[in-house]
Amino acid sequence: MTEPNGAPMRFAIPNKGRLEAPAARLLQQAGFRYERGERSLAVPVLERNIELLFVRADDICELVTDGVADLGITGLDLVAESGADIEVLAELGFGHCRLAAAVPRASSVKSIRDFEGLRVATSHPHTTAGFFADKGVTVRTIPLRGSVEVAPKLDIADAVVDLISSGSTMRLNGLRPVIDLIESQAALVRPRGAAEITEVDQAVTMITSVVAARRKKYVLMNAPVNAVGEIRSLIPGFDAPSIVPLADPTMVAIHSVVDTSAVWDVIPQLKAAGASGILVLPIEQLLL
Ligand code: AMP
Repeated sequence: MTEPNGAPMRFAIPNKGRLEAPAARLLQQAGFRYERGERSLAVPVLERNIELLFVRADDICELVTDGVADLGITGLDLVAESGADIEVLAELGFGHCRLAAAVPRASSVKSIRDFEGLRVATSHPHTTAGFFADKGVTVRTIPLRGSVEVAPKLDIADAVVDLISSGSTMRLNGLRPVIDLIESQAALVRPRGAAEITEVDQAVTMITSVVAARRKKYVLMNAPVNAVGEIRSLIPGFDAPSIVPLADPTMVAIHSVVDTSAVWDVIPQLKAAGASGILVLPIEQLLL
């Protein structure tokens, strides 16, 4: 536990790149209020004993491992690459990508065995070396910090291991993915075995409740009493939906929580079962 007015809990957040905007949006929705200047590195959270450290996503594992930060948001690929003993508290549902091995389109490489002896350019050299060594395939890793996908064109590598989301950058550079090494997304991380800190627990609860809420919608509708059985079977809710009497004794209002991914399919079924005045609302935070 931190003492009241003791040193603030330090929370490392990506300061640029692909994870920056979605991480800031998540913090805002979770109720972190702060004013970040253009170049500020450490920013206090208003009314909380928390300090946000705005740093590069690929420095966050080190800051967390060294105990400089008590909590961090970074990519799972970077956690794997750091090799550090870091605890992943929650996956955050953004920054989805995969680390894939790819070769120039005209290459004869078809399977992992065909990588034997190749030069592989990557910004994830530890993950790459570990992956191929596990499969008994010897490769020479060429560590690069950026522009990995142009390495074969420059003839400094025969293949690459790089992050892909849609695959369009690889295609644009004439590369063909052969095999995936790992799947990644943004995650909430902290040092393994760290002492309990009240502000860490609170921050994790607030953030994970937003992530959980994004996967659900609050659905309200009116329905004839005799349709309740069928409607209940379509929307089980967590325990059961709430059923509220209306002024018209033949009608009720039904409230439930539905998976966001199921809404498209469920709405027409609810209408067919007799529901009317259906409202689909966002949920801000969801704590089970
Ligand atoms: P940055 O280099 O600062 O843009 O952040 C890179 C991090 O964003 C990676 O380590 C991944 O966790 C994540 N990411 C998500 N999609 C991609 C992608 N298509 N290419 C690179 N990084 C991605």
